[in-house]
Order: sequence, then structure tokens, then C-alpha cells
Amino acid sequence: RSPMLRVEQLTREFRVAKNLSFPAVDEVSFTLHQGETLSVVGESGCGKSTLGRCIVRGIESSSGEVNYTPPGGEEVDFLKLKGRDFKQVRKDIQMIFQDPFSSLNPRHTVFEIIAEPLRATTNMSKAELRGKVREIMAKVGLDPSHLRRYPHSFSGGQRQRIGIARALVTNPQVIVADEAVSALDVSIQAQIINLLRDLQEELGLTYLFIAHDLSIVEYISDRVAVMYLGQIVELAETSAIFSSPRHPYTEILLSAVPQPDPDVRRKRIVPKGEVPSPASRPPGCLFAPRCHYATERCHEERPSLREVEEGRFSACHYAEELSLRGLAQLSVTA
Ligand code: SF4
Ligand code: MG
Repeated sequence: RSPMLRVEQLTREFRVAKNLSFPAVDEVSFTLHQGETLSVVGESGCGKSTLGRCIVRGIESSSGEVNYTPPGGEEVDFLKLKGRDFKQVRKDIQMIFQDPFSSLNPRHTVFEIIAEPLRATTNMSKAELRGKVREIMAKVGLDPSHLRRYPHSFSGGQRQRIGIARALVTNPQVIVADEAVSALDVSIQAQIINLLRDLQEELGLTYLFIAHDLSIVEYISDRVAVMYLGQIVELAETSAIFSSPRHPYTEILLSAVPQPDPDVRRKRIVPKGEVPSPASRPPGCLFAPRCHYATERCHEERPSLREVEEGRFSACHYAEELSLRGLAQLSVTA
């Protein structure tokens, strides 16, 4: 699979007081490959939504690059593009938002909502827009004859289909989905997840899937990136993350996932101390104050994200040793 989006050292600082700012996204680097689903997980406030918004240029980044390679084209840094070049790539990188209730303007018709990204990036006539909107509504399972209706007349699941149609109407390559199903009922979640998977297969889409529900993540992802305090602390193939995490924070997140198999019980691991404020950043490993394995070295030296095995990245000084203990030793047989 070829690289499609190469995120390099992406940083977004937020100012919290006159002389105090902190990076909500802190020098994040990763590569998204054509046709894959990479999920970004982590507790709320870890910077995953901010990362998604920076990538689609919904908010400005402080520094870093979002290098995009269009199919058959040359790599460009999306963050540096202006005017027509910006609009061209804007069409290719679209976002689906969490809340289908608040993300749709209640005073706009479904037609106006779905056509908006096309209006912003092309000069299509009204008739062309209508044709495009009808086509995409049918594709996401909405009745195209409902295009003059307003969002309030649709159910939660249908509203999220409107949000998906809006993201897909420009024929994008990359979709950043920020908690795309979190606000929906569980039964509706499965429908929307399966719709996203079908659309990916049909249209060859590449997904950056931001989520906190790890059972959905395990089902949908090829690879998983774990974020903590604005940094990626582990990145690996989904099966590797779930079977043998190489970062203590991943291990903690996984220990909280309910196990469907009664023979495999994971002991819930509770991190030490308090949930840290994003503005207070310890000098060594950012996770050290909460880590059960922390040593003196951890409090002094910040580990960087490194490849600890082919295709597996961890930002822990002891990633190799941790693989020996891992979750296997923490599970008990009922
Ligand atoms: Fe824990 Fe040290 Fe690894 Fe940080 S580097 S996660 S403190 S063991
Ligand atoms: Mg969020």
C-alpha cells in the first residue's frame, strides 16, 4: 500500500494564560496508507480530535506538515497550499463529525448541507449540484427525494448519513472520522460502521478513524495509534496492539475493554495518581507519573516513538521487556 498522507511533526499549541501555552498535539508523525483504516484512540482530552481538525485544516496547526499524495500525482504539503491548489486538495481530504445533531445547520435543507463542500471547491451549476447530491444520498442509504427537508425531520442515524454524504460528495480520497458513531444508539452504530466499511471498499477510501470505543476500533481498523497528552505513544497493526501491547498506557486502555469470552478475563489495571492537566508536562516520559513500571530513568529522559519491531512503534524505554509481561500474564482463567 502506498503512502497517501504523511503527517510530520504536527503540533498545535493552545494558550491557557498570558505566558503559558501547551501543545494539544505535540510533534505527531505517522503515515496513512492508501485504502487503510488507521484508528487514533486515547482518553478525551488526549488531542485526537485536535489532530483530526489540524489534518483537514479545520483549525490551524502551529507547525509541522501534512504531506498528501493524490492518486498518480506528486506529494504536496496541504498545510502550505493556498487558493486553487488548496481547494483542489480540500476536495480530497474530508471530515465526518461526531455529533449529527449539532454539526448540521438546522436552517439549511439537506441539499444545502450536502452541496456545501462542492460549492466551496467547484463552480458547478445548481442542476449539477442537485444531480451530485441525489447520487450521493442514494449511495449512503438516504431517499434522494428528501433533499428539500430539514435535519430535524431525520433520525439520528439518518442525520449521520447526511454528514457522511456531505463528506463524500466531493469524491474524496481521505476521510477523517471524528467519533463518527459515538453519539448514536448501539444498534444504529453497527449500521453506520458497516456503511463506512462498504463505502471504503466501493470507493477505495482511506480512513483516519478517531474513536474511544476499543471494541469498534478492533473491528474496523488495520492499524491503531494510541495517544496520550498530545503524543502518539504506540502505533501498530490492530492484532498486535490488542494481543501484546508494547506501551503501559495501551495495556491500561485494553484492560478496561469488556471481554466477550468468559475464559479470558483481563485484570483491570488502574493508572497511578490523578489524570494530569494537559498543561503540566513532566520532564521525562509524559506517562511516568501514572506508570506502574516507571524507573528513575523514566522521570528524567523523554522516550521518543521508535520502531521496536517491524511495523511496531512504541514510546517506552522498556517496550521490549514489556512485551514479555504484556496482557497475557495479566489475564486469569475463569
Ligand atoms: Fe512507563 Fe517508563 Fe515506559 Fe514511560 S518509559 S511508559 S514511565 S516504563
Ligand atoms: Mg474528541
